[in-house]
Amino acid sequence: MDFDDTPEEAAIRLDARRFLDAHAARRPVDDSSHLAAHRPNTIEADRRHRLEAADWQQTKLAGGWGAPAWPVEQGGRGLGPHLAAIFAEEERDYDVRARYFQVGLEMVGPTLLAHGSAPQLERFLQPLLRGDEMWCQLFSEPGAGSDLAGLATRAVRDGDEYVISGQKVWTTAAHLAEFGILLARTDPDVPKHRGISAFLVDMSTQGIDVRPLRQIDGAVHFSEVFFDEVRVGADALVGGLNAGWGVALTMLNFERSAIGGGGMIEWPQIVNLARDHGVVVSAVGRDRTGAPKSGADAGVVTARQDLARLWSRLEILRFLGYRVRTAITRGEPLGPESSVMKLAVSGFYEDVGNVLMSLQGADGMLWGDADPNGGVYTGIFLAQWAPRIGGGTDQVQRNIIGERVLGLPPEARPDKAAPFKDLPRS
Ligand SMILES: Cc1cc2nc3c(=O)[nH]c(=O)nc-3n(C[C@H](O)[C@H](O)[C@H](O)COP(=O)(O)OP(=O)(O)OC[C@H]3O[C@@H](n4cnc5c(N)ncnc54)[C@H](O)[C@@H]3O)c2cc1C
Repeated sequence: MDFDDTPEEAAIRLDARRFLDAHAARRPVDDSSHLAAHRPNTIEADRRHRLEAADWQQTKLAGGWGAPAWPVEQGGRGLGPHLAAIFAEEERDYDVRARYFQVGLEMVGPTLLAHGSAPQLERFLQPLLRGDEMWCQLFSEPGAGSDLAGLATRAVRDGDEYVISGQKVWTTAAHLAEFGILLARTDPDVPKHRGISAFLVDMSTQGIDVRPLRQIDGAVHFSEVFFDEVRVGADALVGGLNAGWGVALTMLNFERSAIGGGGMIEWPQIVNLARDHGVVVSAVGRDRTGAPKSGADAGVVTARQDLARLWSRLEILRFLGYRVRTAITRGEPLGPESSVMKLAVSGFYEDVGNVLMSLQGADGMLWGDADPNGGVYTGIFLAQWAPRIGGGTDQVQRNIIGERVLGLPPEARPDKAAPFKDLPRS
């Protein structure tokens, strides 16, 4: 495992820091106010933040950092994924809106570069790079999430067009996106993985109904999207007829690399909250002013143990990150270690969410303006289910580790070879 930057990595980090220092404000490492600022809970705020994100994307583009992993001829920097990730690592320390275009820049763009036709690249890549057009991923359905290949939205050829009908759900940013990349069934007579095609869809097309879903924390992150005989041109097909599963795997691979990047919370913010609630973390028996304490009570001892565990988890995540990065630097394919990493990330968010609530005591029940922390920490508790479900659930990651690392017998998959139309469906 390599812990230090290679000379090439160090040079890129220096370049990235110079650019960021010149164009953005560094945020204090233990300041948690940005966490609240980055959690919009109204669609209007989301729209406003999207415009700010587009401004920042254009600043990055002008400085050559618009999409570091894309090829130079498409406006990128031509860096390998491990080198491109250095910019994102540094960007996290600055007060900028960095992740609004993640689906487009890190998932759709690279997928189009792998499977798109020349006219599709010509039409879509530059607006995406400039932050002019936002994209969403129209894969999951009410009956197809973990078993994505069981999707039932259908696309039927009619002359020069395809007619799409069905329903998607969980579609991140569908209420903001101009375009979506959609999976639909184009041949029900063959086994499920082989009868799927991918389409590029203009979200303003007649027959598309986007219904935002409000989450438990009040935010609107995703929508359900209904397709009622939506007509798209045959040139919307990407990767070829019935070749959509390959397109989906490419995109899901890029999604997996994108997940685990950004952190919802960092160690200094956790420690600050503990200090604010009277848990001594710097010296046993002393309070935050340094004055001696009469004796640690049981609650303080438990909280300290919680903090020690969270610190250990964060360190483990750091080392798992090094392992993934070392594999990528050496050009080794990423295998089940990405599942191990994803489980470690989601396990951390489950743990930290619960500890943040217990540190706050009764204050954890406060929300919004009533909460002196603006609902940030309670929001992190409520948001823990996003990483535990999105991008493949914890249980599915455990299946992958069980099969590919521990060598356990694979799950029975009787539906793999039968034609889709013969499969029992709810
Ligand atoms: C924050 C977030 C953002 C998302 N964004 C998008 C998006 O932009 N576009 C998109 O298309 N989708 C998106 N998704 C959907 C996501 O990919 C699915 O939620 C996920 O794949 C799980 O599918 P499901 O919700 O249908 O659950 P199901 O697959 O129905 O699973 C239900 C439960 O059964 C368990 N389970 C299922 N199969 C197995 C098995 N074989 N073995 C053991 N347990 C199993 C699961 O672990 C889970 O606990 C998003 C989800 C989240 C949480």
